[in-house]
Amino acid sequence: MTLLLGSIADDYTGASDLANTLTKNGLRTVQTIGIPDPDLALPDVDAVVVSLKIRSVAAQEAVSAASTAEAWLRARGAIHVLYKICSTFDSTDAGNIGPVTDALRKAAGGGPVIVTPAFPETGRTVYAGHLFVNGMPLDESPLKDHPLNPMHDANLVRVLARQSSGTVGLVDLATIAGGADAVRSRLAALGASGVTAAIADAVFESDLETLGAVALETPLSTGASGLGLGLARALVHSGRITQPARAAGTALPAVGGLAAIVAGSCSAATLRQIAEAERIMPVLRLDPEKLLSGPDELAAAISWAGDRIASGPVAIAASADPQAVARVQARYGREASGHAIESATSAIAEELVARGVRRLVVAGGETSGAAVDRLGIPAFLIGPEIAPGVPVLGTVGNAQGKMLLALKSGNFGGDDFFAAALSMMH
Ligand code: ADP
Repeated sequence: MTLLLGSIADDYTGASDLANTLTKNGLRTVQTIGIPDPDLALPDVDAVVVSLKIRSVAAQEAVSAASTAEAWLRARGAIHVLYKICSTFDSTDAGNIGPVTDALRKAAGGGPVIVTPAFPETGRTVYAGHLFVNGMPLDESPLKDHPLNPMHDANLVRVLARQSSGTVGLVDLATIAGGADAVRSRLAALGASGVTAAIADAVFESDLETLGAVALETPLSTGASGLGLGLARALVHSGRITQPARAAGTALPAVGGLAAIVAGSCSAATLRQIAEAERIMPVLRLDPEKLLSGPDELAAAISWAGDRIASGPVAIAASADPQAVARVQARYGREASGHAIESATSAIAEELVARGVRRLVVAGGETSGAAVDRLGIPAFLIGPEIAPGVPVLGTVGNAQGKMLLALKSGNFGGDDFFAAALSMMH
């Protein structure tokens, strides 16, 4: 396997989002779950996105995991590594964007690192070093109340400086509008004055294309899927991509087998999607109280599915409306109930696969992460997009044989998402 672009993603769904963006922009891409075993055989690809869960862990743990992933990617030929962060710059003064960027920069031999979470397609823009979310400064957007990483400062130069050991500078929009040479000169000047990381403004995709072209000449960058788009387009433009990626919309090879849906997301979109699914397939709504009080509900769900699955797709959902969720959380605690239900939905996914399911749709970011871990899937090949940000995934190297998955987080997808997903998974 040879690869050009490596990425280390700080969470699983962010990794899928990036892998999907790279595929859409012309790179054959694999997403691995964790750092792959040395003997995992990956197909020939242009880009590998290593998915980690290091967004909100202790900085030292994040640095250690990211450094191991970087060494793995470099050993396989990556000429550039993108540290994929959230487009809302999710972090605290303790990290982890600064400490990880510092460590990867040191490993890559120094030089100022371009840093930008801009992703105009999803309303994330950076101007004068300040991050805007759908036109609102970060500290006035709903992210100011994020439960894990509340963001109270939109000035990313300041935010990154507080969590970095080096000096943080800015590549401003006027410089970027001047083109790649202007950005190169600015970076060189910043580097000469001791700057180790430079927040880069970007308002339009063309800004990210300019930044991608310059970043590609350096060993490391830090950014969201928007910078991934810039890097992918720069790689294609450079003529180094010898085999065209499967055109977006081309299906992965069929896997056959049975099909099922498992839902743990309680978002408004998922609740509508489940209601819509009820019109076309059997849907079992789990009783979370029973699920949390003993093994019977789980066993009953598996037996319910076993009776029906041979005749067509079925859906099993823990999902409930906000009032029901609040009741469960009040009784069992927010974290404890979440983890217990994730454990139940992933056990159901595992049992369904043991009974012959090879096409599996999972709704919910955490729910998907838990299911993928439980199924022990080491990597995914990225297929066509079902809905914005949600591709069909083909498994690589898993014990159960080839499977197709769709992992949908939160509010993604239209009301007919489940039918749309199954119609693209054969
Ligand atoms: P989303 O992508 O919509 O945020 P997640 O899977 O990340 O979905 O999060 C949903 C969380 O809610 C999971 O931890 C899941 O186990 C939990 N959950 C699912 N159903 C219920 C329920 N009925 N009551 C309480 N929590 C639930």
